[in-house]
Amino acid sequence: MFASNHVITGAVIGSLVVNPVIAIPVAFCAHFVLDAFPHYGIGDHTSKKFLYTLSADAGLALALIVVIFVLQPQNWLLIIACGVSCASPDLMWLPRWLVELKGRKPKNMGPVRRFHSKVQWAEREIWWGLTSEVAWFCLMIFVLANNLNFT
Ligand SMILES: [Zn+2]
Repeated sequence: MFASNHVITGAVIGSLVVNPVIAIPVAFCAHFVLDAFPHYGIGDHTSKKFLYTLSADAGLALALIVVIFVLQPQNWLLIIACGVSCASPDLMWLPRWLVELKGRKPKNMGPVRRFHSKVQWAEREIWWGLTSEVAWFCLMIFVLANNLNFT
């Protein structure tokens, strides 16, 4: 699932669960639940399409964090921490991706990466994958906007 969807979902968790000891691990685990939903994904991680999509997605994810930082609603630091926590498991793909970008084949995956890969059973590069991403993002923006407290 897109990083921006992980960040916005983590932000929603941070706005609902105000105890950081609970909220941050819940946001982290929510990553894998989100990945289990049908979502968009581009198989060739070295293609220009993937690089453009990743750049736009990372830009949107960062923009979300910046907006929360600038607006500083109640519990803004926890909201941002949960957003980052929810997106963070995908950082495990970074070393493999860098190997792929060099034109080499990455080593076999360990048990955690295998689990993370298998949980994404319905990642597809087709219209309904993108539709589910956009629908989820709109739903989470709506929930977050109605949940932020500025008093
Ligand atoms: Zn993931």
